[in-house]
Amino acid sequence: MARAGEVVAGTIALLGEHAQPGITTAELDRLAEEFIREQGGVPTSKGYRGFPAATCISPNAMVVHGIPGKHRVEDGDLISVDVGVTLDGLVADSAYTFRIGAVEPEVQRLLDVGKEALAAGIAQARAGNRVGDISHAVQAVVEGAGFSVVRSLVGHGVGRSYHEEPQIPNFGDAGRGARLQAGMTLAIEPMITAGGPDVYLHDDDWSISTADGSMAVHFEHTVAVAEEGPPRILTAAKSREKAGLVP
Ligand code: MG
Repeated sequence: MARAGEVVAGTIALLGEHAQPGITTAELDRLAEEFIREQGGVPTSKGYRGFPAATCISPNAMVVHGIPGKHRVEDGDLISVDVGVTLDGLVADSAYTFRIGAVEPEVQRLLDVGKEALAAGIAQARAGNRVGDISHAVQAVVEGAGFSVVRSLVGHGVGRSYHEEPQIPNFGDAGRGARLQAGMTLAIEPMITAGGPDVYLHDDDWSISTADGSMAVHFEHTVAVAEEGPPRILTAAKSREKAGLVP
């Protein structure tokens, strides 16, 4: 899974380099698929429940599951990319929201809070804690900043399959839910909006956007719960750090 995670991280870094004004999301997807296959991986999204592309790319008010297509990246866009890679039968999953050029201060704050929420959730992914500790930590950061957590979409276990138990909501009570054990591998993924929490499904049956048209961000890592201390982040390869992406 760590090797799959490195390919995921490299793919996200590549998408970040190429997400510049003028390129379409379909072109970004093609670059990602080429890279993933060159590394010996398979894009997990492609064909997953019929999803037609190698990555999900969701601009602006689109929260998740955007089908790469004709959207041409523009200055001021937020571009959320979500990448799953299968390598030797194991899956890693990560997402990142890129800011294209300059954005309003409130949009920058949304980005900062999204990263902070992910870091707070990851910090709770410790053996002996419960799923609700992750959920509550994410929710506290997001709502404390005056933003909303999308409630109908959740993080998840990941490993031999893209989506496994347990579900990891981005809201909930500390001390509740399944107990975390060393070796569990989890995709923790706050999806947050600048406005309200409600979302809707587009006619393509995949893309999900905010109901009120507010901007959304999505940050995700696959982590492995450790015997002691904080988890190992499997999708935080050097390539991603080099590209200046945190966490
Ligand atoms: Mg995920």
